[in-house]
Amino acid sequence: MKADITARLEEIAGREFVVYDQGHIEDYLYDETERRLRPPACRDCVVVKPGKPEEISEILKLANSENITAVVRGGGTGLCGAAIPVRPSIIISMERFKKILEYDDKNFVITVEAGVTLREMNEFLQERNVLYFPCHPGGAEAQVGGLAMENAGDPRAVKHGVMRNHIKGLEVVTPTGALIRLGGKLRKNNAGYDLMQLMIGSEGTLGVVTKVMLRLYPKTKYSGVLLASFDTCGRAADAVTRTLKRGIVPLSIEYLNRSVALRTAEYVGERWPLEKGRSDLLFIAEEDSEEGLFDVQKAIEEICSEAGAVESLVPEAGRDQSVILTICDSAYGAFGEDLTDSMDIAVPPADIPRLISGLEQIAERYGAAIDTVGHMGDGNVHSNVYLAEKDIDDYYEDLKRELYALTVRIGGTITGEYGIGKIRRDSLPVQYDSTQLRLMRGIKELFDPNGILNPDTAIY
Ligand SMILES: Cc1cc2nc3c(=O)[nH]c(=O)nc-3n(C[C@H](O)[C@H](O)[C@H](O)COP(=O)(O)OP(=O)(O)OC[C@H]3O[C@@H](n4cnc5c(N)ncnc54)[C@H](O)[C@@H]3O)c2cc1C
Repeated sequence: MKADITARLEEIAGREFVVYDQGHIEDYLYDETERRLRPPACRDCVVVKPGKPEEISEILKLANSENITAVVRGGGTGLCGAAIPVRPSIIISMERFKKILEYDDKNFVITVEAGVTLREMNEFLQERNVLYFPCHPGGAEAQVGGLAMENAGDPRAVKHGVMRNHIKGLEVVTPTGALIRLGGKLRKNNAGYDLMQLMIGSEGTLGVVTKVMLRLYPKTKYSGVLLASFDTCGRAADAVTRTLKRGIVPLSIEYLNRSVALRTAEYVGERWPLEKGRSDLLFIAEEDSEEGLFDVQKAIEEICSEAGAVESLVPEAGRDQSVILTICDSAYGAFGEDLTDSMDIAVPPADIPRLISGLEQIAERYGAAIDTVGHMGDGNVHSNVYLAEKDIDDYYEDLKRELYALTVRIGGTITGEYGIGKIRRDSLPVQYDSTQLRLMRGIKELFDPNGILNPDTAIY
């Protein structure tokens, strides 16, 4: 990195907030994307840790005048390589944007600086114990700014939606250095194009978020777990449709095929409690009263039985429940080393059986294996692909193209949660036609005429 650029960054942010020795820069180069899939990071980078939006504005003006790339780094927990610098870059770390600015319990909103982590915000809300943020759409160290920029979502989307549904306002420094404020505490606002929604999910390509205002919700007091197993994925999906049609909206509805459940249980040193059937559903329900929770669990159990469940179980609160939740949360770790790709596709929820059987047929033709865990309630499945050989073979690209094409034919998307980033960019034309891709490129050019902010990301 040129010495005059690092010197300017020191003037803008202060000497102690600029990192250019290679040893320390290493910590800022990669996110949590699987090793085999992530692009190699460029090491010719400098890290700057601004403390104010005005400093970010100056940094971006410098990037424009020097025609050098800037990449924002949040918590570095992303799973699509979006935060990985692949060209010589100024890495803008948001780690000093740590303040919780306002907790407004009358309007049900919290305003935080973008570098506050999910864990920190939840601890703050936990201490007050009245309102809460109902989702956990990322790693605990993911920053609220990063969650907004990835429009992250988790299994609780069944009941509560994804980040997009909770964000009320953003403060953003545009790529050319202007500070803009989008949205606010309003319940209704129909003025002009909705730039805030455009910014959400833009993967750090349209601006640097400095503040986020999020919606909060009254805390529910009781939660419980129910497991049900079926002979086929189709029967499990039918149980999900019947439950939702009956007006019961659980917090989440997770699907595990039995081989995933058994392997993960072994990985965490526990026993999977179901024996009959091959396709398991985990319902998590949340209610305001103990009786309400009991009634909902009973109703779900009846619906599952009508749909052909061969076994069901309401584990005791406490250890039994937490074992099951631990197993479900660990499915990814259990397969980590053998995995080639953990796909993140989503289809209309009722079409999941069609998707899973189609994926399995395609994989079989390539001599690959696919295991699926998924958020059955919101149609998002993580299909773990294993190739015969451990390295990514040439044929993997063909296999992936076929899997994505099937997904799109069913009306789905190639990513429901983790985003396009740098690893799925080349697959975007499978989902969007040339007009849509051109409009996206046009939007990027309008915000970022010199293409300095996180190019090579999110759009094709
Ligand atoms: C254990 C674990 C569990 C996870 N669970 C989920 C899950 O349930 N659902 C899900 O969707 N994802 C999940 N993820 C992925 C990840 O946590 C999310 O994608 C999260 O949104 C990334 O936030 P981050 O702060 O780590 O962003 P980073 O990885 O640092 O960056 C992600 C992108 O956002 C940009 N960015 C970050 N901060 C800003 C900012 N302030 N302004 C502008 N751009 C910015 C970066 O440039 C980059 O393009 C998980 C990851 C892990 C490791």
